[in-house]
Amino acid sequence: MTKKIYFEDPYQTEFESEVKSKFRRHGQYLVVLEKSCFYPESGGQPSDKGQLSGIQVMDVFEENQEIIHVLDEELTSQKVKGKIDWKTRFDHMQQHAGQHILSQCFHRCVRGKTVSFHLGERISTVDIEIKKISEKDLYRVEHMANEMVFENREIKTYFLPEDKITGVPLRKPPQKSGLIRIVEVSGFDHSACGGTHPRFTGEVGLIKIIGKERIRKKLRFTFVAGQRALNDYSRKDKVLAETAVMLSSHEMEVPDSVGKLFSELKAQKKENRKMSKTLNQYEAQQIVQDEGGPVIKKIFQKKSKEQIRYLALQIIKKPGFFVIFGLVQKDLCHIVLARSDDIDFDVKSLIPEISSVMEVKGGGRPSLVELVGKEIQKLESALNKAQESVPFK
Ligand SMILES: [Zn+2]
Repeated sequence: MTKKIYFEDPYQTEFESEVKSKFRRHGQYLVVLEKSCFYPESGGQPSDKGQLSGIQVMDVFEENQEIIHVLDEELTSQKVKGKIDWKTRFDHMQQHAGQHILSQCFHRCVRGKTVSFHLGERISTVDIEIKKISEKDLYRVEHMANEMVFENREIKTYFLPEDKITGVPLRKPPQKSGLIRIVEVSGFDHSACGGTHPRFTGEVGLIKIIGKERIRKKLRFTFVAGQRALNDYSRKDKVLAETAVMLSSHEMEVPDSVGKLFSELKAQKKENRKMSKTLNQYEAQQIVQDEGGPVIKKIFQKKSKEQIRYLALQIIKKPGFFVIFGLVQKDLCHIVLARSDDIDFDVKSLIPEISSVMEVKGGGRPSLVELVGKEIQKLESALNKAQESVPFK
């Protein structure tokens, strides 16, 4: 069984050890040492990063109480000098101890039992067995967690035989048997845990809950601690400062400014709709003046299908008009056929005429038909065909 240096001293980053065994599995080089600082992935905490005699350690896992180091290339020596990446280790210590503290706070504030923990690359999550939580309670949880940090309580670790743990107020029963490792946040939390933690809660740094989502019958909270919390604060501070500059407002007034912008935009959109309606009425008049009548045929390029329908409706408001409109839009063309109410003619009867020239989809009522097709190059002849079939000129 490998001697786990990280149990005794999570701050030790360098070590020397005899090689116990070396073997290959699935093309990878695996090494077992007499002792190691490398933490194997376990209990929601990822494995350590680092090197063994200059060779990159790709992964670390535990198998039959041995720590297995997965190497990038073959190790030839029988003795190694190991070095773990302290930045990653300390980050994991901050997040992991942060989770112990948070879990106890959820337990105390809302009787929420921690069912799982995951330490991710940028954020960590803790799943709590509760259906909902109020903003006020969530604030209490976060506030209590940070109180624990400010009090800089000692975090002790010790081993107890399985039959001696009954007196320890563990948050949840241990998943292992035999010797149980207890991690105690002095006078606050007792957990059975094999992870790496700092000696004092002050080292955890700020604990911030940044997200909440429902996962089946529990709530998943996303949090960051220590350096990650500072990074998160800096990122968000930058976003807020940039937004404030764009809005020419004070940072704390950004929500108000955005709210104002939204209502202004809404009012402007309403005004725009009104103005474009008026504009379309003028345009309809202009078209009638330019094209004469009673049959008005025209192909548009820079309009929407709603706009040409509206124009057609404006024109046929007056008696005696027949409108044949086409619109080319990217790779589609739209057709609107419409007539004034006083004309006794079913516009739908023109659909077969159009279809004999180009493939179209759509339909309508006896006074207005809307069609759409893809053969843009045939649009003009299709409209001509429709014009020829109108029983008056
Ligand atoms: Zn732990």
